[in-house]
Amino acid sequence: MENQSSQMEQNPQTDNTSTSNTKAILKGLTLDELKNYFSKTGEQRFRGEQVFNWMYNHLVTDFFDMANVPKVLRTKLKDTCEIMTLEFVDSQISPLNGTKKYIFETSDKYKIETVLIPEEDRTTLCVSTQVGCPLDCKFCATGLMGYKKNLTAGEIFDQYVLVAKDFGKDNITNIVFMGMGEPLLNYNNSVKALEIFAQELTTGISKKKITVSTAGIAPKIRELADKNLNVKLAFSLHSCFDDIRSGIMPINDKYPLKQNIEAVKYYARKTRTRITFEYIMLDGINDRDEDVEALTKLCKEFPCKVNVIPFNSLQHMDPTGVSAELKSTPHERINEFVQQLRENNITVMIRNTQGEDIAAACGQLAIKYND
Ligand code: SAH
Repeated sequence: MENQSSQMEQNPQTDNTSTSNTKAILKGLTLDELKNYFSKTGEQRFRGEQVFNWMYNHLVTDFFDMANVPKVLRTKLKDTCEIMTLEFVDSQISPLNGTKKYIFETSDKYKIETVLIPEEDRTTLCVSTQVGCPLDCKFCATGLMGYKKNLTAGEIFDQYVLVAKDFGKDNITNIVFMGMGEPLLNYNNSVKALEIFAQELTTGISKKKITVSTAGIAPKIRELADKNLNVKLAFSLHSCFDDIRSGIMPINDKYPLKQNIEAVKYYARKTRTRITFEYIMLDGINDRDEDVEALTKLCKEFPCKVNVIPFNSLQHMDPTGVSAELKSTPHERINEFVQQLRENNITVMIRNTQGEDIAAACGQLAIKYND
């Protein structure tokens, strides 16, 4: 795992400007990249802005629909460029809470999943950044399938395009990079996708409603802070103790808590945002009184809040080793744990486990398809 993940960090990129069948793939290019592409190919730079608007705002997939682009240029674009799109494969809606799960296919035939979560006051789109994941977190279904490939920025953004076409662009209020994969191990593509999402011109979704979730790649958290994108950061904490965290998240051996906590504090300071700690409740592992104490101490140090998440069982996947031992904390104890934190003046939310009935927890449906 160690070698695999460090390899991935050194060489994690799939270059979006590369060509397929000698055609340039435009989806995934940022505004600046598109303008540069047009000036490089002898066109005016503002054409880049027009195409950006068509692809990412109007969700157009055919150059001939780009009404304000001259016909000659549309023909040239058709001959020399491609607007990559994912293929729709399947979708499922949870009868319990309306969570909708989509399976899309990349041009190289990998299946990825995207989840739409309607709630009372918002509708969140949860996108994947990798096919599979190299991190091998013991509680995570995606971890069980291993790592297959990094998604390009276009493949990350196109999940939004397809769901927006199905569900209505204006109905999607929040974006979370919380699907399959570790966004900060696919750093350049994730950042490019974030740059596209964060352009008011495209989604109209404010940066405050875009969240990147990470298992903790400390140097990349700092790098993202310095990017001044100012999107929100969620840190998958799950334990305040290194030995316990390493037991369920092997990446903790490489980037231990101290290093990650310093990085998230830097992120909070630099971006002036509040960090969210994600905390899956695992029976007997991270739900003890000393965990309340340690979490309280940590949360007093800087602006943050805690999202307590009931554990989605992996039993249907026949896990082995540590994964086979994991059980969710009983509801009463979850409530008590939250109560104790609140008494200590910590902001805590309990996240409803969305779509357990349709295997919505992180990667479970796509695994079925990739098999
Ligand atoms: N790699 C990133 C993003 C993917 S995981 C990260 O680690 O944050 C997104 C969130 O889903 C994480 O908080 C993760 O801990 C949570 N998650 C994974 N498996 C889960 C399960 N079985 N039950 C509940 N939440 C889970």
